[in-house]
Amino acid sequence: MKLLRFGEPGSERPGLVDAQGVVRDLSGHVDDIAGDVLLPAGLAKLAAIDPANLPAVEGNPRLGPCVAGTGKMICIGLNYSDHAAESGMEVPPEPIIFMKATSAIVGPNDTVEIPRTSTATDWEVELGVVIGATAKYVSEADAMNHVAGYCVVNDISERDFQAKRSGQWTKGKSSDTFGPTGPWMVTADEVPDPQALDMFCEVNGHRYQDGNTRTMVYGVRFLVHYLSQFMSLQPGDIISTGTPPGVGMGVKPEPVYLKPGDTMRLGIAGLGEQQQTCVAA
Ligand code: ZN
Repeated sequence: MKLLRFGEPGSERPGLVDAQGVVRDLSGHVDDIAGDVLLPAGLAKLAAIDPANLPAVEGNPRLGPCVAGTGKMICIGLNYSDHAAESGMEVPPEPIIFMKATSAIVGPNDTVEIPRTSTATDWEVELGVVIGATAKYVSEADAMNHVAGYCVVNDISERDFQAKRSGQWTKGKSSDTFGPTGPWMVTADEVPDPQALDMFCEVNGHRYQDGNTRTMVYGVRFLVHYLSQFMSLQPGDIISTGTPPGVGMGVKPEPVYLKPGDTMRLGIAGLGEQQQTCVAA
C-alpha cells in the first residue's frame, strides 16, 4: 500500500493511492496515518479494504508528511562511503546519529525556507524508514518486523550551522521546512529489498545526486537493531538513513548552495518523488 495524508497543514486526512494512481480517502476507517495504524494489525486492516470502495479525492490536494505522530526523526550521518569521501570525512566505526527537530517535517512538495543568515543550505535525498511496532533491544534478525514502511526524505542541511556554529549537527538540520517527507509511505511488504533502490536529486533541473541504497554502509536491518540499543523506537518515528554523494557541499571547484527561487526534485525508485521551491525565511 501507498499511504499518505492530504489536505491543508494541520488538518490532513489519511488516504491511499490505488493501483490506478487515484488518491482515495481513508478517513472513514482511520483518524490518521499514525500510532496503532502503523502496527502490523493496523496495516492488515487497511490492506483488507477494497480501494474501489473508498471515496476518490477530487482535484489535486496538497500532500502532507506521509505519517503523523512522529516523536523523533533520527538521521544517520556519513552512511554512504562515497558521500563521506566528498565530505572529507572517514566512514565512522559505528553509525553517527543526530536528531532533526520534528517541527522541521513538512509535506513532500511544500515550500522550503532558506533560514535567515544562511549561505550554505544544501540538499540530501534519503531513504526514510517508518517504524511500526515499538523496537527496544531488538536483534538484527527481528529488526525488520518493526518497520512499517519506507518513504523519501529530503534531509535539508545548513552546512555552516551544522559544522561551524559549535556543538553537534542538530542545529544545521532542524530549521523549519528542513524535512520534506513523502509523498507516501510504501508499506514494507512492497519493498522486499530496501538496499537496492535507485535514488536521485536534481536542483534547477541539474542532476547532482544519482545513487543507490546498495552503497549504504549500515543497512536498514542493522540500523533498526543498533538504534534500539540506545532508545526505543516508537510507531511513527522515522529514521533517515543518510545520503549518497552529490550534495552541494561536495561540488567542485566551489560548493553550490540553495537560494530563494531554486527548485529541487528528488525521488527513490518505487517510493515516489518530491518537488520543492525555495523561499527566504
Ligand atoms: Zn542526511
